[in-house]
Amino acid sequence: MAAPKKSTLKAPKPLVAGNWKMNGTKASLGEVKKLASAFVKSKAKCEVMICPPATLLAPMKALKAKGVALGGQDCHAASSGAHTGDVSATMLKDAGASAVILGHSERRADHLETDKQVKAKVAAAHGAGLLAIMCVGESLKQRKSGDTLKVVKAQLRGSLMDGCTAKNTVIAYEPVWAIGSGLTPTVAQVEEVHTALRKALVRRFGDEGAKMRILYGGSVKPANAAELMAVPNVNGALVGGASLTAKDFGGIVKAYT
Ligand code: PEP
Repeated sequence: MAAPKKSTLKAPKPLVAGNWKMNGTKASLGEVKKLASAFVKSKAKCEVMICPPATLLAPMKALKAKGVALGGQDCHAASSGAHTGDVSATMLKDAGASAVILGHSERRADHLETDKQVKAKVAAAHGAGLLAIMCVGESLKQRKSGDTLKVVKAQLRGSLMDGCTAKNTVIAYEPVWAIGSGLTPTVAQVEEVHTALRKALVRRFGDEGAKMRILYGGSVKPANAAELMAVPNVNGALVGGASLTAKDFGGIVKAYT
């Protein structure tokens, strides 16, 4: 029998991204400097990113010299125009971002964002040269009714266009019920969803889908990071609350030392 073909694909470099949500003012810059120094000292084998409110992107630009990337938390699908209060992908890029979180469950819930709108935002992010971090995740009701895989695969299908690559797109699996709740899925549940997402990505994007990073997000803490990050097909974390302090975020990044 012929030996199985060895994969020549390199494992993607993990990404640990902090979603600051609507938290932080210029007074937080000291904390983020501490975080950057801790990351440099840790020599962690992952990429690190902070996604602060858009108001803090420009003041945080200096972090990039320390190897900490910056991301936005949402963008409009248009690049400019009469959209009061919105921010475009081009503007995020101009302010120092190299990425943007899109389709976060809080945007889907608070602003009724649909997959179609998220897809348009992903296209806008790519157009501006930003990495799109596209979020999917089931509600507790959907998990309890056994619909988790159906839900996340539909979100994946509907929120991405053909031609996405590992360089311009990252997926974040964030069970809605795990966000900010202190609850996390079991390792087996995380593995089941990440495996299903990987298969769907490979089916649609081929080798690019095999290399695309799939982050886990939802109550990641220093105490559970190593266990969650060791799950097959988990290529990093999207961290909310625990990304606000250098101590906790540094404790999570340590999973990659
Ligand atoms: C998030 O909102 O992206 C998130 C993962 O939040 P937390 O880590 O606080 O659960």
